[in-house]
Order: sequence, then structure tokens, then C-alpha cells
Amino acid sequence: MTSRILVVDAVPTNRIILRVKLSAAYYEVVQATSGQAALAMLRKSAPDLVIAAADLPDMSGRALCAAIRHKAQAGGPNQSSVPVPVVIMHTQDDPGERLASLAAGADDVLTRPIDDVVMLARLRSLLRARDAEAELQLRDDTRRALGLAEHSAEFAMPGRVRIVSTGVHPEVRAMVNRLQQRSDDHIEFVDADDALRDTGRAPDVVVVAEAPGGLGEGLALLPQLRANRATRQSALIYIAQPDQRREAASALDLGANDLMITGPDVDELTIRLKKQIARKRTNDRLRANMRDGLRAAVIDPLTGLYNRRYALPHMSRMAEQAQRMRRPYALLLADLDYFKQVNDDYGHTAGDAVLVTLAQRLKDNLRAADLIARWGGEEFLVAMPDTDRRSAQRTAERLCALMAKHPVTLPGDRRITVTLSIGVAIGLPSTDDTPVDLISRADQALYAAKNKGRNTVVMSDTVMALPSPEKRKPLPPAPKPNPRLAPPVEIEQARDTGTDGATIPPWGLSRT
Ligand code: GH3
Ligand code: MG
Ligand code: MG
Repeated sequence: MTSRILVVDAVPTNRIILRVKLSAAYYEVVQATSGQAALAMLRKSAPDLVIAAADLPDMSGRALCAAIRHKAQAGGPNQSSVPVPVVIMHTQDDPGERLASLAAGADDVLTRPIDDVVMLARLRSLLRARDAEAELQLRDDTRRALGLAEHSAEFAMPGRVRIVSTGVHPEVRAMVNRLQQRSDDHIEFVDADDALRDTGRAPDVVVVAEAPGGLGEGLALLPQLRANRATRQSALIYIAQPDQRREAASALDLGANDLMITGPDVDELTIRLKKQIARKRTNDRLRANMRDGLRAAVIDPLTGLYNRRYALPHMSRMAEQAQRMRRPYALLLADLDYFKQVNDDYGHTAGDAVLVTLAQRLKDNLRAADLIARWGGEEFLVAMPDTDRRSAQRTAERLCALMAKHPVTLPGDRRITVTLSIGVAIGLPSTDDTPVDLISRADQALYAAKNKGRNTVVMSDTVMALPSPEKRKPLPPAPKPNPRLAPPVEIEQARDTGTDGATIPPWGLSRT
């Protein structure tokens, strides 16, 4: 899609020249002749970028820039949450005016006569940055719409800035000294060899200053900085000498985010650094939010285990690998016994504590390669690669015994014993069972384990095919406590504990 640029200028020839240049570069151009007309046009045609003359009949370019920023903050129809970049066009190169425009919030400043190559490179760079930011913002909006937690606002830490000079360059040295004196940011000055150094914490911004009469060494550094792990996400500012305008234009296409073609000017660099640090921080935050969002999409928040959405594709990969390696794999479906009664007797928070404890015990007692997932409310799935029937059964029995033997501590230090029933199915390389087939068989075995009295393991190959869960008869109601198998029983605090510190449940450890 072509980008739409709003040109704001009262002088018809200025508008025509810009329109011709921009149209030739395949931009769509809309025009306004005053600040007020520009604000109306902004609502109507939602441009991707604004180029405004420094002087307009009803306001200055800077005042228009401020009004655009103000409107963006207030929101409203056609307002993207990513601010539209504003470029102010000056009639002559006056450093004071340029700084004032940058300080007023302009994303860049251009001077007549227009250098086409530099202008188009700057526009491409601004539009690229806005697109990238809009994409991140969109994903962040989706994440929030999904109700995923907000990332806490970050304390504004000083920025980390690395300034690289490509040769002996006293002017840059002097600029760095002044910057270090006036800035709260951490400024380090390195030569080109050290530009890519990994110092643990990535710099927020890398400034590459081309030495006078240099052969574009700084330019060659830009793609390397972009590809380097330590500086990949850093904002890059390229400082060219005034006679290096062509290099300057290609810098933006080689990965620089911002450009100075005025040589090492400390005032201008201060403003540009501030903007780049702020933009980098926003993007870092959006990226972190997205990472958390992705994590939240596959992790169960209560137990920290993977959820069903993650487990299914993971099991498919495990099944493919088992086929390739000609090895069996095993699937366990474990369900807490009489869990509803835990909630009823001790409250939902106590129920949650039981789920968290079981999850932790599963993590502590299974191999790193085993996948543990919360399959449903109080149902957990374990998928074990390279596991045959015998070891799967042994593992399941060990987990059952573990729960039966070690009471769970509830909030308020009450302790209860809660047991597990487990159904086990084995994926053999000689068959073409899918993980879904296996889950269904493990589910039938689990149902049989419940029917058998709970707190037990049933292997699926010992179970006759059962009707689908919807057509099954309801399980018998929870029996009254009996000495061998019982609903969760609170253990008295003073009760005798076993050698490993766990309380022996009243009905012992035997299972049917
Ligand atoms: P069975 O031995 O046959 O498995 O009986 P059960 O009581 O364990 O099974 P049932 O399906 O009757 O009840 C499951 C209960 O699990 C009902 C539901 O409220 C509870 N539950 C599901 N998810 C959570 C949760 O995240 N936290 C808590 N505290 N309870 C949950
Ligand atoms: Mg249950
Ligand atoms: Mg259940």
C-alpha cells in the first residue's frame, strides 16, 4: 500500500514541486494551505506523514506540529495510537531554527532547496519506523483486548548511549565530553573496533560519527550493528559531515534510525538522542508485552504449567519424533479424586493450593523432556517421550503414591491428603495412532481408574473400549469415608509423620 503524505504550504509552487517529487516516488499526496486546513485534512484523510512549511498563514509549522501531537493524545476517530511523523520544511539552513523545530516535536527538519535523495531517504525511514511501531501497537492492543495483563510502567532509567567514531576526530571527542557533562544518560565513547562489543546490557542508542574525509567506514558499520546480537535492537544515529550528504542518505536505508548531516553538534544530538531513547523504550515495552502475551497464551496462570493449546501441537511433534526414532512414548491423564469436595469443605483457595502443589510435585518428579500440562480444571496431562509401557506404569504409580503419601498444606497450615487417579496409554511406533487417539484411550483408562475406586493407575490396553465421555454413565457418587479409599481427609497437625516428614494418610498406601 502506498503511503499518503500531507503537504502543508501556502505557496503553490512549493506544493507543486513537492507533489511532483513525492508522486514520482509513488507516494500519494494530499495538500493543505494552512494549519487549520491541515488539521481538518488530518481527520479526513488520515495521512501517514506530514510535511509542513515552517511558516503558514495562520500558525507556524511548529504550532501545527504541537496541535497534531495534542490531537493525537486526545484520541478520536481516525487517530492511530502511533503518532503521525511531522517533518518541518525550512526555507534556509538556520541551526537555531532547526533545533527549535526538533525541540517542538518535529520528527525531522528539511531545508530548501530540497535534496531529493536525502529527503526521500528520511521519509522512507520515518514511514518504516511508524509502520513497525504501528504493528507492535496493534499486537499490543490485541493482547489487551484478550485481557492479558498490563506490563507495569518502567521506572525511567538513564539511557545507555554508545558513541562510535570511525577515526581520530577531535570534534566528536569534544561533543562527547560536553554530552557527558550535561546528560544523565550513560555515555560511552569507543572506536570502531569496539562498536559491536557485547557488554551485557545492550545500548539504547549507538551513535556512529563519520570522521572528516573518511571513506564511509561508519556507513559499513551500520548493517553490522543491525545484525549484531548486542546492538540489534538499539536505535542507530548516523552523524555525517556536511560534505557527506550522499553517504547520509544511504545510512537510513542501511539501518540507521536517525541522521545528522551537520557534523557533531551537541545540541542537536541531545534532542535526537532523547527522541530515539524514548522510541526505543516504547518499542522495548511493546515487545516485552508481546512476549508476555505469547507466554500467557500457552501457560496456565495458576500452576505455571503449559495449557492445552500448547500441549496438543507439542504432542504431535513428540509423536512424529517417536515414529522417526522407532521408540514408544507414553501419555498419562491424571485427575484429582473428589476434588469438588476439597472446594466444598475448605474453599476455592484451598482447592487452588492443591492444584499448585500437585503441579509442583509433577515438575519435581518428572524428567525435563516430559511435557506436563494442565489439561482441564483438576486434570493434568503428562507426555513422556521414549517411554515404554513398563516405565510409564511405574512412573504413574510413583505419582499416585506420592500424592497419597504426602499431604498437601493448605493456607492456614491445614493439611489434607488428596489422591490421584491416572489413565495411561502408550504410543507404539508400529501403529499409526495420533496423539488424539492416545488421549482418548488414556481418558478411558482414567474413567476405569475412577470406577475402580480411585487413587489408582489403569493401563489403557487393559480396558475395553468405552462409550464417548458424553454417553458415559455418571461415575458413582463419592463414597462415605472408608479406611482404605476416601475423599480428602484433613490430617491433624499433631499427627505422626513418616521418616521423610510426610504424614501417613489414615488408610495407608495400598491401592486396589
Ligand atoms: P472425581 O473423583 O470423580 O474426579 O470427582 P471430582 O470431585 O474431582 O470431580 P468433579 O468433576 O465432580 O469436580 C471437579 C471440581 O474441580 C469442580 C470444579 O469446581 C473444580 N475446579 C476446577 N478448576 C478449578 C480451579 O482452578 N480451582 C479450584 N479451586 N477448583 C477447580
Ligand atoms: Mg476429579
Ligand atoms: Mg475431572
